[in-house]
Amino acid sequence: MSVSPVTSLQIESNPELGSVMAACWENARSLFSQEFGDATFKSWLSPLTFGEFISGRLIVIAPTRFRRDWIQSHFSQKMLEILQRFDARILALDLIVTPNSTFNGTSPVESAEARIKDQAEPEDRNIQVIGSRLEPRYTFEAFVVGKSNELAHAAARRVAEADKVTFNPLFLYGGVGLGKTHLMHAIAWHICKSYPQRRVIYLSAEKFMYLFVKALRFKDTMAFKEQFRSVDVLMIDDFQFISGKESTQEEFFHTFNALVDQNHQVIISADKSPSDLEGLEERMRSRLGWGLVADIHPMTYELRLGILQSKTEQIGREVPLKVLEFLAHKITSNVRELEGALNRIVAHSMLVGREITIESATDVLRDLLRANDRRISVDEIQKKVAEHFNVKLADMHSPRRLRSVARPRQIAMFLAKQLTSMSLPEIGRKFGGRDHTTVMHAVKKVEELKEKDASLTEDLDLLKRMLQT
Ligand code: ADP
Ligand code: MG
Repeated sequence: MSVSPVTSLQIESNPELGSVMAACWENARSLFSQEFGDATFKSWLSPLTFGEFISGRLIVIAPTRFRRDWIQSHFSQKMLEILQRFDARILALDLIVTPNSTFNGTSPVESAEARIKDQAEPEDRNIQVIGSRLEPRYTFEAFVVGKSNELAHAAARRVAEADKVTFNPLFLYGGVGLGKTHLMHAIAWHICKSYPQRRVIYLSAEKFMYLFVKALRFKDTMAFKEQFRSVDVLMIDDFQFISGKESTQEEFFHTFNALVDQNHQVIISADKSPSDLEGLEERMRSRLGWGLVADIHPMTYELRLGILQSKTEQIGREVPLKVLEFLAHKITSNVRELEGALNRIVAHSMLVGREITIESATDVLRDLLRANDRRISVDEIQKKVAEHFNVKLADMHSPRRLRSVARPRQIAMFLAKQLTSMSLPEIGRKFGGRDHTTVMHAVKKVEELKEKDASLTEDLDLLKRMLQT
């Protein structure tokens, strides 16, 4: 099935119903993993995103043709039945592919996918990916670099390209959806291409623990140890999962030491820095910090916009800059949602054959925009900013113009503009009934100061990070 024949038709879509169906899809997803099992869900179904609901057909977007066909023949019937439990108005399930999905052969995309005939522990040449698969889209070429991730990106590249081990371990950390897994996969793809003789294992900490516990149960720990201690590169994603799990941590510690002692590369990602991870043994914590610890900050507006631009280029569809700016402003939670939003509006416009405008985007994304609004409130921003700068919360609303309170207030207004979808007058009202021009001035002022003052940029990053997690 292809998308183009539909584009010329004018189909009435109902945005309200679209939101209902998007929610249905989300609910059904959790049943999919029960129905098909976690592994199948992760490798096949989780990348699907909701596209549109038109005339009884729920349209879902698959990243590649290969996947679309596979899902179509193996899972779609059952998926439809599950969806229908949520809403009887769903008469059919259509899977479509967005044009960006066929990544023009620069990454080992379809060939790798074709090799992975079933999801059970696929082997990609020298890379052993346990429990999931390497995402073909997660390459260095597809990674957009900005201030917030440049260190992590440079370190990842270095480790992937270097013919000798330089930092060991490489420890990448940052909040959800900021690109840790993307960078890990990019390293793995790169090594796979440039150093086919190197043996790489990539797995999540959760999977590591699962295998270890299984090995213990089956009294097979020798094989377990050998498997992990003989690799050239060991990559463990979402390391925070190991915190507090004593015996797994102990085993990992030995594996880690064995590898580092032999000068083999270890790469770890986590949601916190080694020093902030709880439930970690002291010796583990200190060894994790021996190599390079690189953190990824929350994305700035500019980076979000950059990512959207790169994704639209991949899709090969014109999306007006205004709409991209709108998305970058409104969807601040993480890149995964940002991408999902872009896919949805593109799919919608292709299906109904209409231009993409801010209005159509607002309609199509109503549920998502609401969820992003809910996540961060102006009250929360005011509270965090007041705490951070040690001023009274009341000063956020008060008429006092003293610099020491006016500056934090301006910063709070700036964050309110960036992190919520409220209009300038609405924000003004939240700050003691100020005029929208005052808010506009505050936003400009903070932008100006940011240019000159690195410590302000740090303050803003920190505040955003606190608000977004
Ligand atoms: P994490 O592992 O940190 O939770 P992911 O690596 O899974 O986050 O990233 C979430 C999504 O955002 C992925 O689709 C990824 O491709 C995309 N993404 C994150 N950062 C970037 C970036 N700098 N450039 C392009 N895409 C990005
Ligand atoms: Mg991840």
